[in-house]
Amino acid sequence: MKERYPTKKIFVGDVAVGGDAPISIQSMTFSETSDVDATVEQINRLHFAGADMVRVAVPDMESAKALKDIKERISLPLIADIHFNYRLALEASKWVDCIRFNPGNIGEKGRIREIVKACRERDIPIRIGVNGGSLEREFENRYGATAEGMVASAEYNIKFLEDLDFTDIKVSLKASDVDRTVDAYRMLRERNSYPFHLGVTEAGTLFHATIKSSIGLGSLLLDGIGDTMRVSITGELEDEIKVAKAILKDSGRVKEGVNIISCPTCGRIEADLVKAVADVEKRIAHIKKPIDVSIMGCAVNAIGEAKHADVAIAFGKGSGLVMVRGEVVAKLAEEDLVDRFVAEVENFVNV
Ligand code: SF4
Repeated sequence: MKERYPTKKIFVGDVAVGGDAPISIQSMTFSETSDVDATVEQINRLHFAGADMVRVAVPDMESAKALKDIKERISLPLIADIHFNYRLALEASKWVDCIRFNPGNIGEKGRIREIVKACRERDIPIRIGVNGGSLEREFENRYGATAEGMVASAEYNIKFLEDLDFTDIKVSLKASDVDRTVDAYRMLRERNSYPFHLGVTEAGTLFHATIKSSIGLGSLLLDGIGDTMRVSITGELEDEIKVAKAILKDSGRVKEGVNIISCPTCGRIEADLVKAVADVEKRIAHIKKPIDVSIMGCAVNAIGEAKHADVAIAFGKGSGLVMVRGEVVAKLAEEDLVDRFVAEVENFVNV
């Protein structure tokens, strides 16, 4: 696997982003931010699901002022998401741990200068959040809706902040199509060392967003690109975290929890594998230590997979084998296999 790109480490509250920090997961609430109770409730849901930080929309001054109360009632680092009105960023900067602004719709650069000044005074970072759907007019006219246009916008704004001697920066380059997003991140990655926030924006419902994000974020993570990420889903908050965690794990960037290898089944199957895998998945979901397990429907590939797995089952006709590190530890009737397997997994992670 490729090494992660060496990036500058910044801090969003107490969460490090970039450098040798773990790749963090973030999400965004969908409540009206001015409704403090509802927003705190959603932030707590995200916290419980495993988010490392959370972003809230700040569409008006009431929302910007509500950030004070929200911040007092949560413990996750809080990021204010600003479009159009730089004054909202000035107010929000008093209460949050990071400001994200979209350079394409903030307007003239004097306003960005004001945001930088406020963030410097409060020692909080800025995310330059380029969005492929709302580039500054000059870049839109020159490059159209392309990755080049997104990169040009990001570079222009990075330079603008650097010229103000502000380098507490992270960058995102989100588009709603995967290839433009991936191209933009790859292109910009060669040119600076600021930490990147990864995401495919407006990715759709759970099914489509999972696929788009797995392809897009997965490709980048395999390339060693990415320091923090959000999976955008039109759906439940918790799903964003669940999918993001799975992408991180399956791209090999996080070694945590259970990796289940199970066969797709075929005409040789002699057991109810679907039920067995679902049962196992539920019963060992709490395990945090990295462990590879394999659950196979017949002997064809089971022995080979078991050699690489920590704990394995090979189902046969009415019975099967439980193996630990490739060694058979039990031959049992089908109905007893899952219980023994789960016991072996628990034993394996507890020694
Ligand atoms: S392990 Fe056996 S049942 Fe499963 S897909 Fe392979 S041949 Fe079919």
